[in-house]
Amino acid sequence: MNHMQLVSKLTAVLGSNQRVLHKENELYAYECDGYVAQRGRPRAVVFPETTEEVAAIVQLLHREKVPFLPRGAGTGLSGGATALNNEVVISLVRMNQLLHVDYDNMRAVVQPGFINLQLTKQIAKENAYYAPDPSSQSACTIGGNLAENAGGSHCLKYGVTTNHIVAAKVVLPTGEIAELGATYGDALGYDLLGLLIGSEGTLGIATEITVRILRKPQAVKTIMAWFDRVDEASDTVSQVIGAGIIPAAMEMMDQLAMQAVDKSNYHVGYPADIEAALLIEVDGLVEAVAAETDQIVDICKQHQVRAVRVAETDAQRALWWSSRKMAFGAMGRISPNYLVQDGVIPRTKLTEVLARIREISVSSGLRIANVFHAGDGNLHPLICYDASIPFETEKAMMVGSDILKVCVDVGGSITGEHGVGIEKINDMHYLFTEAELKAQIAVRAVFNPEDLCNSGKLIPKPGRCAEVKRASTMISQHLETYIKTSHGSNSHSM
Ligand SMILES: Cc1cc2nc3c(=O)[nH]c(=O)nc-3n(C[C@H](O)[C@H](O)[C@H](O)COP(=O)(O)OP(=O)(O)OC[C@H]3O[C@@H](n4cnc5c(N)ncnc54)[C@H](O)[C@@H]3O)c2cc1C
Repeated sequence: MNHMQLVSKLTAVLGSNQRVLHKENELYAYECDGYVAQRGRPRAVVFPETTEEVAAIVQLLHREKVPFLPRGAGTGLSGGATALNNEVVISLVRMNQLLHVDYDNMRAVVQPGFINLQLTKQIAKENAYYAPDPSSQSACTIGGNLAENAGGSHCLKYGVTTNHIVAAKVVLPTGEIAELGATYGDALGYDLLGLLIGSEGTLGIATEITVRILRKPQAVKTIMAWFDRVDEASDTVSQVIGAGIIPAAMEMMDQLAMQAVDKSNYHVGYPADIEAALLIEVDGLVEAVAAETDQIVDICKQHQVRAVRVAETDAQRALWWSSRKMAFGAMGRISPNYLVQDGVIPRTKLTEVLARIREISVSSGLRIANVFHAGDGNLHPLICYDASIPFETEKAMMVGSDILKVCVDVGGSITGEHGVGIEKINDMHYLFTEAELKAQIAVRAVFNPEDLCNSGKLIPKPGRCAEVKRASTMISQHLETYIKTSHGSNSHSM
C-alpha cells in the first residue's frame, strides 16, 4: 500500500483528515521525544479519541504490516516514542479525560492522555491526590507513566507507578481489546498488568487506566540542608534511612545543578561553594512528622551540615520543590545541550559512585551535574555537551553508557524510571545474558507476533552484542583521534 492509500484508509477509520498528519512539515514535531540525540520521522501521526478507534487503527496497521507506536506527551527521556522504522505514531493526546472517581474506594479511571498533575489537581477538593510525581508531571501522561513505570520524588515512600495502577484496558498489537488487572482485590492468573507496566509501548496500547488515589497526609514538613562536601550529604541520606525513617522524598543536587537552577527563574540562593543540597520531605500524622523532622535535622548536624532549615511557608516549600523539579530544564542556562542519564545504585554506594562520575567527567572533559532521587539510589547525571562540536554528542552518549556500567558494577541497574527505549538498548547487555534476553523476546512475540508495535525498543535482538562492540570500537577510535587533535585541551573541570 502506498503512502496516500494508507493515509486515506487511516482517515476513513477516524472519519476526519484533521486527525491524520502526514505532510513532511507536520511531522517534524514528532521526530523524537525528550531524548533528542536520535531522531526518526514517522510515516504519519493519528489522533484517535476512543478505545475502539485505537483498535480499528491497530487492526488496519497489523493487517497491512505497517509498523506503529503509541505516544503520550513525548516527554520520555530514552527515545521510546521515537519512530525508528517509519512508523505510524498513534498519539493518545486527545484521549485526555478523567472518566470516573470513586472516593469511597479511592480509585480513579483516566484515559491514557490524561496529564499526571491534572489528576491531583482535580481531586484535591476531596483531600485526595495521585502519588507518583515525575518532575515532568505537569506535562507527561498517565499512559506514558504506565509504559515507563515512571517514578518521581515521592516514590521513595509511596512506590512507583506500578504500585498505583490496578487495572487497564489495552489494545493489543493485533488490534484485540483486553482488560488486565482488577479494580478491587487481586487479579487471578498471570500478572499481565504487571507485564504491561514498564513494557515501554511494546506489548500494547493502554486506552483506559484505573489508578489508586490516596488521602492527603495530615502534615508535611520540608527540610533543606546544605553541605560543604558531597560525601557528608550522601552519608546523611544513608543514616536517615538507617534510623528507620522513610521520608516521603529525599532529593540531592550537586554544585553544578545548583548553579544552573540559581540562574533560572527558581533562584534559591545556594552558596556557591557548597557541594550538595538535600531536600527532604516527611509526611504523616502531625506528631510523627514533628518528631521525624527534629530527628532528621539532628542527623544533618551530625554530618557537618553548613545550614539546615525547615520550610516556614507554603511559598518557600513550593520554591524549593520548583528548584529541584525544574533542574533538568535549567541546565540549558549553563550548557547548549545535555543528556539526562538515569541509573540506580545501592544507597550505600552513593559516595563511591559520585566520585567515579566525577572521574569520568574529568577524563572525558564533559561537565556532569547530578540531581537525583537520593533516597531511592536513583541517579540522574546530566551530561553537558555541545552538539555543534563534531563527535561531542557521541562522546556524551558514551559517557552516559560508562556511567551506567559503573552503576551495574556496584550492584545497581541501568534505569530507575526513564526506561531503556533506544538510548540504553545496548546497555541491556551489562545486566542480562543472551539467554535472558531471548526469553524476554519470546514474551514480546506472544503479544506482538509481527513485532510491528514499537519495534527496536527495550530488548536488543540476539547477536547485537558483537555488532555493538564493533560500532563502539569505531566510535572510540574516531573520538580518540578527535580528542588528541582538535579538542584535547578543552577539558572542563568541575
Ligand atoms: C524535565 C523532565 C523531567 C522528568 N522527570 C521524570 C521523573 O522524575 N520520573 C520519571 O519517571 N520520568 C521523568 N521524566 C521522563 C518522562 O516524563 C516519563 O518517562 C513519562 O512517563 C513519559 O510520559 P509521556 O506521556 O511523555 O510518554 P511518551 O514520551 O510519549 O512515551 C513514553 C513511552 O511510553 C509509550 N506510551 C505512551 N503512551 C502509551 C500508552 N497509552 N500505552 C502504551 N504505551 C504508551 C511510548 O511508546 C514510549 O515508549 C522526565 C522528563 C522530563 C522531560
